[in-house]
Amino acid sequence: MTSLIEKLITGLLLAVMFIRVAPALPPCTDKGIVFQVLGSGGPEINDQRASTGYLVWQDGRARILIDMGPGSLLRYESSGARLDDLDVILLTHLHVDHSADLPALVKGSFFTGRDRDLPVYGPTGNALMPSTGAFIDTLFASPDGAFHYLDDFLNGDAGYRLIPRDVEADGTEAVTVVDDGRFRLTAIPVHHGPIPALAWRVDIGGKRIVVSGDMNGDMHTLEKLADHADLLVAHHAIPEGMQGVARNLHMPPSIIGTIAARANVQQLVLSHRMLRTIGQEQESLRLIRKQYHGPVVFAEDGQCFDVQ
Ligand SMILES: [Zn+2]
Repeated sequence: MTSLIEKLITGLLLAVMFIRVAPALPPCTDKGIVFQVLGSGGPEINDQRASTGYLVWQDGRARILIDMGPGSLLRYESSGARLDDLDVILLTHLHVDHSADLPALVKGSFFTGRDRDLPVYGPTGNALMPSTGAFIDTLFASPDGAFHYLDDFLNGDAGYRLIPRDVEADGTEAVTVVDDGRFRLTAIPVHHGPIPALAWRVDIGGKRIVVSGDMNGDMHTLEKLADHADLLVAHHAIPEGMQGVARNLHMPPSIIGTIAARANVQQLVLSHRMLRTIGQEQESLRLIRKQYHGPVVFAEDGQCFDVQ
C-alpha cells in the first residue's frame, strides 16, 4: 500500500513538473482595436518590468509592434501574438531599452511560417546614433556585424525580408509613412536630448493611438500629433522638478498633463515607468490633473486597453 501511495505521489509530482505553464498574460479581446503594453518600464534592471514595447491589435490580430526593449519579446510570446500577423514594426528611437529585443525577434521568427516582408520604420541618425537602416545593416548585413549570421533576413534568402526605412527625425514636421486603407502611420520628431527620436500615431479601424516615445516636450510637436487621440501613451520617466540630463531627455508630469489637455485626448496611459516615479503616482496624478481631466492609467506589463 505504501509503495502504491508513493507511486501515486511521484506520478502527481511528475505531472505537475511537466504541465505546460499557461501564458502569464490574459488574452486581449478578439474584437475591435486593442492597445497592449508589452513593457511598461525603462532601462532599469531592478524595476521588475520589461522595457518599452507595445502592440496594436485589430480583431484578434497583433498587427503593429512599437519598440522592442529588453523583456518585450517574452511579453510578446505570452500575449499570444502571431508573427505572421505582424504588418509593421515602428521604432521611436534606438536606445537599448527600445530596441535590444529586435534581433531576438528576428532570430525567433526563423521558427515561424512568416513569408511576407516586414517593414521597420524608425528615425534617421546623427553623429551620436545610427539611422534605423544603418542600425539594422550594422547588426545583420555588415560582414563585421554582431549578428551577420542572420543576414538572410536582409538579402531575401530567408522566408521573408526585413525592410528598414528611415523617417526624418530632424525638424518639426509630421511624416505619414503608410496610408493604404489598412491603417495610417504618422511620425513626428520629438526632443529626447541629442538623440533622434519620433512619436508615432496609428490610425486604425476609426481609432487613433499615439505613443510619445521618450521626449521632454521642448519641440511642442506631440500635442499636434495626438490631436483628439483615443489613447495617448506618454512616457513618465521623471518626477516633477528633476533637472539636468534627465530633464533634457524626459518630460515631467506637468508637461504630460499640458500635452494631454491641449490635444484633448480621450484617455492617457503612463508608461516607461522608472523607480524615480514609481511610488510617486499620487503626486504625478495631482500634477497631471491640473491640466488634464480625462482617465489616466499607470501602465503594467501585459495590460490591454480597449480603444473605444
Ligand atoms: Zn527609454
